[in-house]
Amino acid sequence: MPPLVHHPHYRAALADHHALPINKFHRLAEMLTAEGLAPDGFHTPEPATEAQLTAVHGPAYVRAVLDFALPHEMQRRIGLPMSEEIVRRTRAVCGGTLLAARLALEHGVACNTAGGSHHAGPDYGSGYCIFNDVAVAARALLDEGAVSQMLVVDLDVHQGDGTALIFADEPRVFTFSMHAEKNFPARKAASDLDIGLDDGLEDAAYLAILQGALPGLLHRVQPQLVFYVAGVDPHRDDRLGRLALSDEGLAARDAYVLETCLAHGAAVCGVLGGGYDRDTDRIAHRHATLHRAAQGVSA
Ligand SMILES: [Zn+2]
Repeated sequence: MPPLVHHPHYRAALADHHALPINKFHRLAEMLTAEGLAPDGFHTPEPATEAQLTAVHGPAYVRAVLDFALPHEMQRRIGLPMSEEIVRRTRAVCGGTLLAARLALEHGVACNTAGGSHHAGPDYGSGYCIFNDVAVAARALLDEGAVSQMLVVDLDVHQGDGTALIFADEPRVFTFSMHAEKNFPARKAASDLDIGLDDGLEDAAYLAILQGALPGLLHRVQPQLVFYVAGVDPHRDDRLGRLALSDEGLAARDAYVLETCLAHGAAVCGVLGGGYDRDTDRIAHRHATLHRAAQGVSA
């Protein structure tokens, strides 16, 4: 069984009408337990320290978030209330992705039950992302000397613009984003490799494009560790996606990414990314696709 990471602080309150289904993280953990995918329970992370956060984000921005003193305009760009729970949550998620990355290096594959806050940039948050958990984890591992080459495979339907900007001048973290070209953010950043997809793309065409890109990328980058942002918002029923993948398409995608990375000798740290549905159970179940795939390759 692949190690799974969860923290009770992933749960936080948001207004009922909010577009982010924030109860999905907690519900996902319950589902994974019920499905027998977490027989030994979850690994519980330490929240990210201020030093780990400022290794990625501007110290003034980090302080403003931790002091609940973010200017209104910056809060609006994030789209979340700066409550104690929400701030506590983002620190726990960053610590969770770092722990999952460490466990992946040890076991081959490990997954967080949240994470993929890829719109958070060097000194701002955006699109429901406050701190960039993948960036915090990657930076911590680089600074420790634990890993010297990483690859971010970001298949969330939105571009990983924050991650691209954070690592623009860091050759040891290669950023790859495959997303719906017309989706948020309107102004794209430059990842090391971007593939912008047309609206309405279905399973076969999507998988063919991915299969055309990933093996060559792994060969070229030779990562020891891959961060896989397994957003389920390319699903056809997603409220914020523009693509048309099915449940089977997402399952095939996740299995393909995990198998291909492992076959190239890279460990994989899986994080959730986005997924938007009014029904918490439905979206949590969709996110569990990643954890089922991880179990499939670890069995
Ligand atoms: Zn997304």
